[in-house]
Amino acid sequence: MNDTGVVDILGRPLRDLRISVTDRCNFRCRYCMPRERFGEDHTFLPRRAYLSFEEIEKVVQACKPLGLEKVRITGGEPLLRPDLHDLVSRLNRIGVETALTTNASLLSRQADRLAAAGLDRVTVSLDALDPKVHAQMTDSNIPVETVLEGIEAAVQADLSPVKINCVVQKGVNEDEIAPLVRRFRGTGVTVRFIEYMDVGRTNGWQLGQVVPSADILNYLQKEFDLIPVDSQSPSDVARRWTHTDGSGEIGFISSVSEPFCGDCVRARISADGRLHTCLFASGGHDLRAIIHNGVNGQALTDAISAIWSRRDDRYSEIRSQETSALPRVEMSYIGG
Ligand code: SAM
Ligand code: SF4
Ligand code: SF4
Repeated sequence: MNDTGVVDILGRPLRDLRISVTDRCNFRCRYCMPRERFGEDHTFLPRRAYLSFEEIEKVVQACKPLGLEKVRITGGEPLLRPDLHDLVSRLNRIGVETALTTNASLLSRQADRLAAAGLDRVTVSLDALDPKVHAQMTDSNIPVETVLEGIEAAVQADLSPVKINCVVQKGVNEDEIAPLVRRFRGTGVTVRFIEYMDVGRTNGWQLGQVVPSADILNYLQKEFDLIPVDSQSPSDVARRWTHTDGSGEIGFISSVSEPFCGDCVRARISADGRLHTCLFASGGHDLRAIIHNGVNGQALTDAISAIWSRRDDRYSEIRSQETSALPRVEMSYIGG
């Protein structure tokens, strides 16, 4: 450990923690939880296997002396977990920046309570404005209007800057790109386009379905005057561009065409308490078992520090036939 916290084998600190609070979801986005693999007969984690909010608090507290700055609550759909605002209050008391990634289907009725509990920011997943494309991509009958109401509630509750994540798939929602930019320009909401990733084993990912960020930018530059903005920090995963008239920003997350493993300062915890040091890791470290064995406080900090200091993951940089054949956990289990 150095005086700014722990670093891994490649010299990367631990700054960011993504915590999945459930593996369940009320959407069935085809790129994440295709219904044929996550149908009626799918076995989700039993609820008793989830880390309690108190256990999550212990883990975050233990990571703080290692240099942790930000926590993102995710899932599955995190707003399905009852009383999520209680977790937010606990994290707020620890003094870490707290953000939430959600499909926003349940956000309009919870945004105020989450903001009051100390939530700093919200990212909403929205791949299409067209109701038919939205229904097709999310494979649900929750209307896109409900998601838009959730976004509006987040803006009103000042969970800013509110960001939108749009996963772009070739031949599926390319026609939604420009309408999304038009719709949110001038609202303070930043739309970010994400390259479809080969996470998990169930979505049948193929390289040919990825739309490279460079192509999206070229296409958008035909309609909009955009100039690049410097990243705020080297660990920013999004490349930022701004409208020259000051009407807002857009972003690109190019994990396939421009991997950013060199700056990856992010750990993930699954809903059942496994610590994963990479989105593509095949296995995690069972923190829940460690906590259940009575390990707490400094001993838990030391255990997490030992795991991080052995980390050498850089899957996206070495993506190849060999690595893509390795087992990988699902996005809905580990959280995006
Ligand atoms: N249910 C919440 C939501 O959708 O915002 C949180 C969990 S979801 C797994 C987190 C993020 O992962 C979402 O923005 C989603 O679009 C993204 N995601 C899921 N599968 C993906 C894939 N194969 N490639 C790129 N992004 C993906
Ligand atoms: Fe659910 Fe989010 Fe996955 Fe869509 S991306 S299925 S909303 S967990
Ligand atoms: Fe980080 Fe792994 Fe993604 Fe690379 S592939 S950026 S190490 S999570």
